[in-house]
Amino acid sequence: MSLKIYNTMSQQKELFVPVRPGKVGIYLCGPTVYRPSHIGHAVGPIIFDTVKRYLSYKGFGVVWIVNITDVDDKLIEEAKVQGCTVPELAARVTSSYLKALEQLGVHGIDQMPKASEHIGEIVAMCQKLIEKNAAYVSGGDVYFDVTADSDYGRLSHRKGEDQVAGSRELAGGEKRNPGDFALWKAAKPGEPAEVQYDSPWGKGRPGWHIECSAMSGKYLGETFDIHGGGMDLIFPHHENEIAQSETCHEAPFAKYWMHNNLTRFKTKKISKSDPEMQKKMADLTLGSLLSRYPAELLRFVVLSTHYRRPIEFSDEELEAKQKGLEAFYRLFERIQRVTGHSPYESGPDLAQVHSAVENDVEKDFVFGGLDFQNRFLEAMDDDFNTGAAVGILFEMVTAINRFMDDHRMETADNTKLASLAAAATQTLRGLCRLLGLFERPPAKPDTGGKLVEDLMQILIAVRAEARKGKQYALSDMVRDQLAAVGIRLEDRPDGTSWRQGN
Ligand SMILES: [Zn+2]
Repeated sequence: MSLKIYNTMSQQKELFVPVRPGKVGIYLCGPTVYRPSHIGHAVGPIIFDTVKRYLSYKGFGVVWIVNITDVDDKLIEEAKVQGCTVPELAARVTSSYLKALEQLGVHGIDQMPKASEHIGEIVAMCQKLIEKNAAYVSGGDVYFDVTADSDYGRLSHRKGEDQVAGSRELAGGEKRNPGDFALWKAAKPGEPAEVQYDSPWGKGRPGWHIECSAMSGKYLGETFDIHGGGMDLIFPHHENEIAQSETCHEAPFAKYWMHNNLTRFKTKKISKSDPEMQKKMADLTLGSLLSRYPAELLRFVVLSTHYRRPIEFSDEELEAKQKGLEAFYRLFERIQRVTGHSPYESGPDLAQVHSAVENDVEKDFVFGGLDFQNRFLEAMDDDFNTGAAVGILFEMVTAINRFMDDHRMETADNTKLASLAAAATQTLRGLCRLLGLFERPPAKPDTGGKLVEDLMQILIAVRAEARKGKQYALSDMVRDQLAAVGIRLEDRPDGTSWRQGN
């Protein structure tokens, strides 16, 4: 099976062949740390964390870099509003962002270089571009001359005439062409000293685009494999990175350009009459989202859609996806009840037990399970189609449950078949791990501790007695009134359990 990646540059899926055999370098544009992050800032890291997991699974040694933009006009303005220094603001926002990524299972980032710590590399790159006559000094600013790159616009597939200066530009000195963009910005009067860096052109600070060229070059080399970011970065940011890097190094820059689609916020019908509701969802910080919803759910929502499609984000979507997650949790609990072992502990998977099958029933189940695995891997090989891969995981959950139903595993004593169901669940978990899901048991909701548990057992026993005595009005009353307060009873051949939620 071979991996294909949709390359924004060629606008088609291409066979993935790394620049250096066995190794992959990935650069993802990170956040500008001036305000608390929102879900949009987590989407790219969740997707590329999954990309790294999958490439590592395929045997590549992967290095993944995400930059932190900690010098920018927005930081200067916000620090002024908050009455703190730019580094204080950047440190605070960065630290809460890192905490959120950790909760979301984004563990694969190798380095998060900061712009403020790479001024030397940035200045050196500007100097080289000036020497090559691809950049020029104007006042205390340095601009890239877009006419120096004859192929400018090839990533965004724009022709010269629709090029406009990026919205992040500040008019400094005069520009030669309207599309020229700042590599270096002269310090303005009144700006705090901590963002004024020395350069051959006087005090100032780097433009936004050049930091990514300088840092990707430093950590991944002049030519590397995958450059990622949101679709909104294609122009001008990524176009400008290409122009700077390729003109400076006279070498190809990134081989594959992967762009994730943006997040769409929808709320219930009321949102039409109340646009504020929609805005509220979009405005929720990552921290407040994580305090309302489990991190696993947020990761699951992101990965349930292929990264090139928009991610729908709404209360209904979160509710629906939570139900989806419950299907996995319930299967894991069922396996534990039947075998006495939690699927969260390691155990043999289908690949390890398939040679021990003894009859058609076992064979059909085991090879059916391995077929799900192949289909999952094919979906991932098809431009990391996590949406399709998640769909296959659901089919697998259904198949394992059906096998357990068919062989009455709760009551019949069939250790061999139960061990096959457990092995299939281990294979399932192995695939989920590639998506960064179900790495540990979900935090148990606070159900009130031992007293509540004891009282629930009394109610369950009362209901069982009522049913035994055919007092169905009473047994239904117990069930319905519990449901009214959000407690659901689940009857199984081996007894009744309860859970909170729908
Ligand atoms: Zn960037």
